Amino acid sequence: MEIIDTHCHLYLADFTEDIEGVLQRADIEGVTKFYLPAVDSETTEQLISLEKRFPGQCIAMMGLHPCSVKENFEEELQIAEQWLSRRKFAAVGETGLDFYWDKTFTAQQYTAFRTQVGWAKKYNIPVVIHSRQSTPECIDVIKEMHDASLTGIFHCFGGSLEEARQITELGFYLGIGGVLTYKNSGLAGVIEKLPLDNMVVETDAPYLTPVPFRGKRNESAYLTYIAQKIAVVKNTSVEAVSAITTENAQQLFGMP
Ligand SMILES: [Zn+2]
Ligand SMILES: [Zn+2]
Repeated sequence: MEIIDTHCHLYLADFTEDIEGVLQRADIEGVTKFYLPAVDSETTEQLISLEKRFPGQCIAMMGLHPCSVKENFEEELQIAEQWLSRRKFAAVGETGLDFYWDKTFTAQQYTAFRTQVGWAKKYNIPVVIHSRQSTPECIDVIKEMHDASLTGIFHCFGGSLEEARQITELGFYLGIGGVLTYKNSGLAGVIEKLPLDNMVVETDAPYLTPVPFRGKRNESAYLTYIAQKIAVVKNTSVEAVSAITTENAQQLFGMP
C-alpha cells in the first residue's frame, strides 16, 4: 500500500533533529512520497537541500505563502520566479489568500496570488492554494484566470459542499488533511457527499495534527489517520482511499 503526502513542510526547523526518523515512520505506514510547498525565501535553502538529500521522495514546489506577503512581497516574488525559471518544480505554491491571521496586506495577497497563478499557466504546472477563511475569494480568482490547462489543489480544504463542487468543476482537487478528524469541523458531512476522484490527502506537517495526536507536532506517518477517517466517512477501505488518492496525486503532479 502506497500513499502520497501531497502537502508537508518537512524542511522546516521542526524536523531537523529527526528527519530520518520522520521518513522511516512514514515509510512503515506506506507514505513514500512527500510534496513540499514553499513558504518564502527564508526557508528556500532548507527546502532545496531536503529535496537533494532524498531525491524522488521529497519533491519541492516553489512559491510565496500568503502569510509571507508583506512590504517586501515583490522582491520575494522575484526570487521565487527566478527559481522557477531555472529548474523544474512539481507545482507553484503554496499561494492563495489568508484572511484568518492578518488582513493588512489583502491587496498585496491578491496581487501575489494572481501573479503565481500566472506562473502555473506559464510553466504548465499545478498551483497549490491556501484558502484560510478565503475559499470563495480564491475560487473567484481561479474562475477569473481559468484556462484549459490550469489545475491544482485547494489544500487543507474546509469549505462547504457547494464550494467543493465549484472547485472540482474547475478541474481542481480537494486536499484533505487533519481538520477532517476534528469533531466540530463539519468537513465529514461534506466529504461524505463527494467522490474520492477529486481528493488528495495531506498532513501539512508540522501543522494541523490529526486526532489522536492533536496538539503535538504533525508528521507524515499520521497521514494514515486521515486516510482512515476518509475511509470511515466514505464507507470504504483504507486501501481504496490510498489507491485512489495516490492515483489522483500522480495524475496531477505527473509520474516521476
Ligand atoms: Zn497552507
Ligand atoms: Zn502548508
